[in-house]
Amino acid sequence: MASTPLTIIKGDGIGPDIVDAALKVLDALDMDFDREYVRVGQAALDAGESDPLPQSAVRAIERSGLVLKGPVTTPVGQGYRSVNVAMRKQFDLYANVRPTLSLPGTKSRYENLDIITVRENKGGMYSGEGQIVSDDGNRAEALSVITREQSERIVRFAFEMARARGRRKVTLTHKANIMKSTSGLFLKVGRKIAEEYDDLEYEEAIVDACAMKLVMAPERFDVIVTTNLFGDILSDLCAGLIGGLGLAPGANIGDRCAMFEAVHGSAPDIAGQGIANPTSVILATALMLDHLGLDEQAGRIRRAVRDAMADGDRTTPDLGGEGSTQGFADAIVERL
Ligand code: NAD
Repeated sequence: MASTPLTIIKGDGIGPDIVDAALKVLDALDMDFDREYVRVGQAALDAGESDPLPQSAVRAIERSGLVLKGPVTTPVGQGYRSVNVAMRKQFDLYANVRPTLSLPGTKSRYENLDIITVRENKGGMYSGEGQIVSDDGNRAEALSVITREQSERIVRFAFEMARARGRRKVTLTHKANIMKSTSGLFLKVGRKIAEEYDDLEYEEAIVDACAMKLVMAPERFDVIVTTNLFGDILSDLCAGLIGGLGLAPGANIGDRCAMFEAVHGSAPDIAGQGIANPTSVILATALMLDHLGLDEQAGRIRRAVRDAMADGDRTTPDLGGEGSTQGFADAIVERL
């Protein structure tokens, strides 16, 4: 059988370290991937490229349609536009799926949480459109665009995913009381689609109240579907509920391409120290194997992560341990 093409972006900051840890796990499963490594963002510029999303990287991703990615730094408030946002647009990665599942051995306040955030990944406040600052620097504006097609696609995706995974409830989160045009359209379309899924419970939540309820009673949530900005914030909140960003994987799904990564960023505060928790990107690798229908191998990764954490074996400092990124990856590999 031909090997599966896989594009790998190690990213920057803690990216190369945690992606190496994930590849160690993939290697231990003896999986047959035809790997191609590409650079984007600062790593590409440092390597002499003039564009943070070089055409060579775009072509490699178009060829494989499958990407395992480390975090990529985006300059804050200035500089080039987010490469992450650009790739979501370029490859039509419209659904961002972020599961947060309680794991043993964390310093989390909660146990037994299992929440999936499904975030619209291309539009809304993160579309990057219409960003203008006046010449005197006193006025700034940005465009938020939400379309019926986008809304239908993401809400349907969330319901189909919920049904396929045997989930019980979908919570559509919005701010239609204030953002009557954009969030209003999302809500209207969502309500209509929800009618087609009467086997699943459907509820609506205004985003601020949703954030409060997530902190006070997170166990009442199952699948959350929402627009881009709200999904980004709520999924980090959910990661906080289970013990931090080091434990939260994400999948960016489109019809012709899928990209798997950690929810977290390049963590410049701990970059180069070898102490980043590799769990998020290792669990993202399990999501990638799910996507390829390799359920048995994905399950082995999740069990090994769970066992290593339950044993507190070589865990990283964010989990209260003294282990290193590669040491914890070894602890996981030994349990596969
Ligand atoms: P961050 O997620 O990088 O870090 C937030 C906090 O969580 C930091 O204290 C960090 O040390 C900690 N943390 C993150 N990952 C960890 C891990 N694996 N193990 C232990 N601790 C971890 O968020 P930030 O500092 O706001 O962003 C840094 C950069 O990353 C920015 O340029 C941002 O744009 C970028 N970013 C990229 C992506 C992506 O590539 N998908 C996602 C989010 C942020």
